[in-house]
Amino acid sequence: MTDLLKDMQLPDNKGYFGKYGGSFVPPELQTILNEIEDSYLKIKEDESFIEELASLNKHFTGRPSPVFYAKRLSEKIGGADIFLKREDLNHTGAHKINHCLGEALLAKKMGKKKLIAETGAGQHGVALATAATLVGLECDIYMGEVDIKKEHPNVIRMKILGATVIPVDRGTKTLKDAVDAAFEAYLGDPITQFYAIGSVVGPHPFPMMVRDFQKIVGIEAEKQFKEMTGKDPDNIVACVGGGSNAMGLFTAFLNKENVKIYGVEPGGISFKDGEHAATLKLGSPGTLHGFHSYLLQDDDGEPLPVYSVASGLDYPGVGPQHSLLKDLERVNYVTADDKEAIDAFFELSRTDGIIPAIESAHAVAFAMKLALEEGKGKTILINLSGRGDKDIDFVIEKYGKNYGL
Ligand SMILES: *Cc1c(COP(=O)(O)O)cnc(C)c1O
Repeated sequence: MTDLLKDMQLPDNKGYFGKYGGSFVPPELQTILNEIEDSYLKIKEDESFIEELASLNKHFTGRPSPVFYAKRLSEKIGGADIFLKREDLNHTGAHKINHCLGEALLAKKMGKKKLIAETGAGQHGVALATAATLVGLECDIYMGEVDIKKEHPNVIRMKILGATVIPVDRGTKTLKDAVDAAFEAYLGDPITQFYAIGSVVGPHPFPMMVRDFQKIVGIEAEKQFKEMTGKDPDNIVACVGGGSNAMGLFTAFLNKENVKIYGVEPGGISFKDGEHAATLKLGSPGTLHGFHSYLLQDDDGEPLPVYSVASGLDYPGVGPQHSLLKDLERVNYVTADDKEAIDAFFELSRTDGIIPAIESAHAVAFAMKLALEEGKGKTILINLSGRGDKDIDFVIEKYGKNYGL
């Protein structure tokens, strides 16, 4: 564990988590990334920045989000007690506002005019559009056309908030293609624009910066859970797309040997290429979008198509720190498939009155199985990364019949 403690200080000053991470970008962009890193390292020690962000977290987002004991779900399963860290209650409905506020404030202090980003489920786009208008910046959001259709309410929200939604019609018209398009736009003008990445991915310093802005989730949860139970949770669970809500929860627990940690990737329909997005389970190290990490790739190193019922999870890469945590065997990376996630979506809605995001439902689905395995007397803390309001039309249309609707 002492080595692991050292690993938690990562990344090193080149942005590496072990052999993962780094920065693989054209030289002109590297200059800009160096500026962002320098500004971030200065600003994160700056009292006025720390106070401003803390104040927004409290008065705007509504932090701290509560920890809730899901009594009826726990009793129904009849195993370990399940607790939820309620990131779904944040303003804008998910954990993403945590890093968007941080990135928006940083961009503003650096004198940038416009925030740009990609979005999958639309949650990052909504959170960023919100943060942009709050601090007074313009905002362009790149989104795959498939996701635009699926996540209609979030598209409308972004427009109401004053952002420009730019449809991406290349490739599979989903998250990876949106990242490609946003990257290109950023390369076109990295001086007045600030690329606010939506997860712990991309070139250094983004995986570090986004993790730092998200780690408030675990810091709060550790304290809240102890107040409720007198102990640490036996298990913590989070879904993993790029991996930001997971790093947010995990970081506070990485050096606690008594806490088992699970990251849940989307198993999709099957483990055939193109029918899942289980990057850590089935991928291999490679380079995409400017960083080195596990990647679902073909023999030529080209990213494979990915799929999940959760738009926010279908990304062929994963944050570099997760790749290291997998190799160190500190975190167990597991999967939940579409069907298990939709079952969990209805289960939690109908036991405890909380409609989870389909992304978060993957974590709930795995935790339900784990609760049985672990048995009574044990505890599981889930990061409930977001609320399911955005998903209800899609779920009813596609799955309603199976659930009597
Ligand atoms: C975007 C999103 C995710 C996936 O992103 P991570 O970076 O892996 O956390 C998970 N849950 C919700 C609700 C999201 O909006």
